[in-house]
Amino acid sequence: MFRKVHIRLTLLCAGITAVIMIIMSLCYLYVSETGLYRNQFQSFQNDINTITTNLEQQSVISMEWLSKMEAQGNYLFYVLDGGIPFLYNQLNDTGESSARSLLLEECRKAYQSVTITDTEKQSDSSYLSSHFEFEFVSESTGSRYFGSVISMGKYASSLEIIVLSSLQPLEQQILEQRFHFILIDLAAIFLLTVFSWLFTGLLLKPIMENHRKQVQFVASASHELRTPLAVILSAAECCKSAPSEKLEGFLKTISQEGLRMSALVNDMLTLSGSDNQRFSVRPKPIELDTLLMNSYEAFDPLAQDKSIALSIILPEKALPLCSADPERISQVVSILLHNAISYTPEHGRIELSLFHKKEHFYLSVKDNGIGIADEDKKKIFDRFYRVEKSRSTKDHFGLGLSIAYEIVKAHGGNIQVADADGGGSIFTVIL
Ligand code: ADP
Repeated sequence: MFRKVHIRLTLLCAGITAVIMIIMSLCYLYVSETGLYRNQFQSFQNDINTITTNLEQQSVISMEWLSKMEAQGNYLFYVLDGGIPFLYNQLNDTGESSARSLLLEECRKAYQSVTITDTEKQSDSSYLSSHFEFEFVSESTGSRYFGSVISMGKYASSLEIIVLSSLQPLEQQILEQRFHFILIDLAAIFLLTVFSWLFTGLLLKPIMENHRKQVQFVASASHELRTPLAVILSAAECCKSAPSEKLEGFLKTISQEGLRMSALVNDMLTLSGSDNQRFSVRPKPIELDTLLMNSYEAFDPLAQDKSIALSIILPEKALPLCSADPERISQVVSILLHNAISYTPEHGRIELSLFHKKEHFYLSVKDNGIGIADEDKKKIFDRFYRVEKSRSTKDHFGLGLSIAYEIVKAHGGNIQVADADGGGSIFTVIL
């Protein structure tokens, strides 16, 4: 399920970013290509201005000069005297003569078609010559050209010079630019996909972990509930045929297992409340030493039953009030004391203590019981986790410490476990 979500999220992230990137690239290409085209046209116009000025200063148009200009600017020149191609064209019109003549014809047609609409190119009598630049597409070759018709007024007959500049180099440059952009975009899309895969993987990790824990929680809860339920069902079955003197024993079993189930369900409800942010903590200023003393008094009889010496150490000076939920903190102390009594053998010692340092309260439960191995210390706050050797204890579901952890966390505090001096464990709650 998560793999599908991961793939979809990756495609979504990479797709959206790729679409934005492609749109940006297209906008850039459009602006850049129109700019290139405009610059090229302006440079063509400037060249034509220079050529026209040169022509005006010359008394005779020499073939050397025309050949030089053609070679310099990659231009094609046609000189027409009274509409008839001049000698220069004929000298150059060898192999490709028909193609050149065709191009010349097409250029003249294009010029004439714009002549009718455009007044700009009408020759101005105040100048020796006039010229007009335009763009046209050759029907025979399909190529685009800039064309200019220069009309020389200083010569007796109407001398026209047609200059053509092919747009092929510009188109080639534009094509190369597009090709580079496609390559860059493809590489960027690939990198984006990889990045999105890693990024969404990181985002999904805590959700997957949470889901794994939920599944484990449900599995463990079902397992824990099944045992007392099986006992209740078999006891109820036995009740049907049991003689009356044994009936009470079966009913007692049913009631005990029912109470166990109820305790387990209560613990699970507490934890599910903390998961759904419905864990209510109502802090108020409380005297922690009084709260600890009450817990001590409540658990002392239980400790005595097991011949365990339960002691309490409180600071001699009056403590400041602590902002905490008294019910919940009592619950934490009860869990710790209950565990300490459960995992400390007879004639052991348990010490409940409290001290205050640098605005923090340190509340500890220390025992000299069976202790906790280092590898288990990290796991005992997990739900339904019980250290192997304590599995036989029937009243323990492995939820106590996870509830204590959630309560302390809801108070913004911390809970730690360490080895006690001389064996056993010490649990410290810092508030
Ligand atoms: P449980 O209900 O099983 O005690 P907890 O979450 O309270 O569940 O504790 C988890 C496990 O941590 C216990 O099963 C036990 O193995 C270990 N543990 C907790 N407190 C102590 C302690 N004082 N001494 C030794 N082991 C402890």
